[in-house]
Amino acid sequence: MQAIVKGSNEPGDLTLGEVARPSARSGNVLLEVAATGICGTDIHIYKGEYNVVPPVVIGHEVCGFICDTGEGVSNALIGKRVVSETFFSVCKVCNFCRNGKPNLCAQRKSIGTHVNGAMTSFVEVPAHGVHILPDWISSPAASLAEPLACITNGMADDNYLVGPGSDVLVIGPGAIGLLAAQVAQATGASVTVRGTPRDRARLDLAEKLGFAVQDGSAPIEEARFSAVVECSGSPYGVEDALKACGKRGHLVALGIIGKSATLSFDHVVFKELTVTSGFASNPRSWQRAMQLIADKKVDLEAMVSEVAPLRDWKRLFDKSMSAEGLKFVFDPRA
Ligand SMILES: [Zn+2]
Ligand SMILES: [Zn+2]
Repeated sequence: MQAIVKGSNEPGDLTLGEVARPSARSGNVLLEVAATGICGTDIHIYKGEYNVVPPVVIGHEVCGFICDTGEGVSNALIGKRVVSETFFSVCKVCNFCRNGKPNLCAQRKSIGTHVNGAMTSFVEVPAHGVHILPDWISSPAASLAEPLACITNGMADDNYLVGPGSDVLVIGPGAIGLLAAQVAQATGASVTVRGTPRDRARLDLAEKLGFAVQDGSAPIEEARFSAVVECSGSPYGVEDALKACGKRGHLVALGIIGKSATLSFDHVVFKELTVTSGFASNPRSWQRAMQLIADKKVDLEAMVSEVAPLRDWKRLFDKSMSAEGLKFVFDPRA
């Protein structure tokens, strides 16, 4: 079967190659892939900025049909359309694993980085990590359940400080930013999305989704917001976030800067800010994400810019790296 394979940790070295079709081993299911989204992580992998265990089929934002079940898994699952959590295996005994945070397990092996992922026709995933989808959602939109579960880990965990009456600023209107804005809105918060002039098309979509928008030419409103969600991963974005947070405000850091940066961190002290984050997802954040989908509290369809076959991978990766669209999704059956 065709697959998008990262051959080494060098920059580039991504090809459309042939790999053997997997089977479902004990405790696992085999998915026939219907949709796999391109994630920011996949872009970092492509550029050689995020290490994988090569050669590996990349892709972890997957929606597919269960077509085979391994030993110990009910074959009543066959035919179900599901999305999948991204951890292929964890140690199950460390403190993080025991406390529902397998995303922080040092032994974590994830789909699309350590073991073969979903930018191909079939992928093997653990049965305990799949979530059955409502009929009405399209498969490309459903592939966004994974980034949504990362957001609900970062924003809707135990120390959740966003809710009715909150005035929330989201910095960075990419897929993560617009999902974060929707999660904040779903809690009853009023939400403003801020981007750069280059983000104009994305800000237009933010407006369509019902958010107030600001472009970067507007001065940052100091100490105005009760919570700021930083999704740009730019030092300027983080600096703006520190400034925009009000006293006793909450800064949720979801963007990755990727290098050292000079920041006015004293805002944290003078305004008694709470800074939190979320790395990847965990079983509880998946439950919250699936509930938001079931309750139709988030519009994932609006986030999909294009669905294309695997052979168009280069064009889709290039588009993902520009600010031309939001979310690009492969359909390996196309
Ligand atoms: Zn992702
Ligand atoms: Zn562990």
